[in-house]
Amino acid sequence: VFSPAQRVRAIHVSEILRITDHAQALKRAGRPVIVLGAGEPDFDTPGNIRHAASQAITRGDTRYTVLDGSPAMKAAVQLKFKRDNALDFALDEISVSAGAKQVIFNALMASLDPGDEVILPAPYWTSYADIVQICGGVPVSVACGEENGFRLTAAQLQAAITPRTRWLFLNSPSNPSGAAYSAAQLKPITDVLLDHPGVWVLADDIYEHILYDGLAFATPVAVEPRLRDRTLTVNGVSKAYAMTGWRVGYGAGPRALIAAMAVVQSQSTSCPSSVSQAAAIEALTGPQGIVAERCASFQQRRDFVVAALNRTPGLHCRVPEGAFYTFASCAGVLGKRTAAGALLQTDSDFCRYLLQDFDVAVVPGSVFGLAPYFRISYATSMAQLEEACARISAACAALT
Ligand code: PLP
Repeated sequence: VFSPAQRVRAIHVSEILRITDHAQALKRAGRPVIVLGAGEPDFDTPGNIRHAASQAITRGDTRYTVLDGSPAMKAAVQLKFKRDNALDFALDEISVSAGAKQVIFNALMASLDPGDEVILPAPYWTSYADIVQICGGVPVSVACGEENGFRLTAAQLQAAITPRTRWLFLNSPSNPSGAAYSAAQLKPITDVLLDHPGVWVLADDIYEHILYDGLAFATPVAVEPRLRDRTLTVNGVSKAYAMTGWRVGYGAGPRALIAAMAVVQSQSTSCPSSVSQAAAIEALTGPQGIVAERCASFQQRRDFVVAALNRTPGLHCRVPEGAFYTFASCAGVLGKRTAAGALLQTDSDFCRYLLQDFDVAVVPGSVFGLAPYFRISYATSMAQLEEACARISAACAALT
């Protein structure tokens, strides 16, 4: 009988994937399920990027590249940081992996000793907590309520830091809340960090280009350059260029950390796909117009979904600044009963009810460390969103 190793016993396949898979299975069985679960743009990878990949294949770029990114790929990342964030990194301060997720995994594997703590402002992307645990660390969840726009306050950070704190994770715009930090909102946080030289910062900027209402993107090391020797800035092509399946992400930070991450990668996956790197180079250095076009389209969908949720009695949704998620409170429907007589006690109960009785798949806030909420991924067509919101509204109206 197989018995899993201690280090993975407490870890499960991502709850988001589980819910999405279950919903897809219902769909295959003929149910008209609308899946608003996955964090994936519905757009195709732009043509110029796909073309760059075919050219790479034709050219024969099909061998191992330099372990943590080809020189051309690292140069593209260097250019991106300069162009978009006014940050200068040398090539050996850049690491390229099979997705931002692997960058994060490498960083924690390379830096955490057993019992080291990682501060995760909640709601947070579920994988953070699981990766911390696989690497022997302790996730320290700090509840960041709606009253501060789901953002961490300086006082909360100060209170959460202990002698064991190794990292603070910041993710702006956020999955799942869509909340983003302006430079002015980051400053009090970076000020606290200046007093704690042992605490490193992992800035997950993967949703950088999906930011609405003309807001300016801000990243910690640009706000406080004195944090440069202990900040890893993570980004990737999955969300901005609709390239989730290509598996390319990157990070930039202190040389010694980048070198240790390369060791982890060298003994796990080796280099990211050579063809995907060629595609990612075109994404980062080619025409950028499509990024803003798609962002405008996401903004229209956000506006629609937020308005629809806020019209629904029992639900309430803060207007998110970015990413493609809404994180709505379902506190107003808890304690009610479904037409079949079931009592809704938690956000998971509510999400299960939406799927079972109204064929809409969404993810409960508890999965992200903050209840009672539910996350909608609105990276799907307006027609699907209209139907889904009508069903959610009908589901709430049917409660007594
Ligand atoms: N970081 C956040 C906050 C995400 O939501 C995701 C994907 O869902 C990732 C990182 C992973 O991105 P990648 O596809 O580059 O591994």
